[in-house]
Amino acid sequence: MEDVLHACAFEDNYIWLIRGKSPDRVAIVDPGDAGPVLAALEKQRLTPVAILCTHHHGDHVGGVADILKVYSIPVYGPARERISTLTHRLQDGDRITLPELDLEFEVLDVPGHTAGHIAYVGADMLFCGDTMFSAGCGRLFEGTAEQMHQSLSRFAALPEATQVYCGHEYTEANLRFALAVEPDNPDSGAYHVRARERRSQNLPTLPSTIGLERRVNPFLRSGQPGVRRAAEKQAGRTLVSEVEVFAAVRRWKDSFRG
Ligand code: ZN
Ligand code: FE
Repeated sequence: MEDVLHACAFEDNYIWLIRGKSPDRVAIVDPGDAGPVLAALEKQRLTPVAILCTHHHGDHVGGVADILKVYSIPVYGPARERISTLTHRLQDGDRITLPELDLEFEVLDVPGHTAGHIAYVGADMLFCGDTMFSAGCGRLFEGTAEQMHQSLSRFAALPEATQVYCGHEYTEANLRFALAVEPDNPDSGAYHVRARERRSQNLPTLPSTIGLERRVNPFLRSGQPGVRRAAEKQAGRTLVSEVEVFAAVRRWKDSFRG
């Protein structure tokens, strides 16, 4: 019943517009820039009912204040981060109800990229900001590898069919790295072809699904022997836990030039 539109901002940010039961009402996810959002709302004659923020970075919250100048709507976001425009501060296990959309979301604390990052799960959709990207994950700016590994494990445990809406279009570059880690992963190879094709037509590769991410995302695959072997080779030592494998793959990606 619901569907999700988007506006593009900056180089590669997606601002998701979640449409529920009434076709002209939407919730806005991570509006880093007001301009493209206001233009999309006007062009498609949509009325926003709420703003959902995942974390404090400017490319996700920078447009909130200007949207509030036009629409007086609630702003949900992480309790543990400093975002001055929030009206509702959320933490793990909280639920938000958007009656105009007939949708409900559960909040997950997913620290790693930032210390208080949250994600929204509901109606077989996941809005995960910069914690997970398709075939990748966010950089560890404020959190530890252990926190990020735990956060991604929570995503991996969601139902396979869950649609994954990330904050950025990084899929193609992420798959180049994924294929450096697992050159023989047929799902990553096939997805790379598909992603390149979509991007050459300027179409989004997203949403992904949890099922696909489990098969291709090296950051969800620390338990796979092939990922471990590649990470150990890169690190030049034996890695004893999945967290260590994850941390080594994350470091590898930080300096990867593919
Ligand atoms: Zn970010
Ligand atoms: Fe971002």
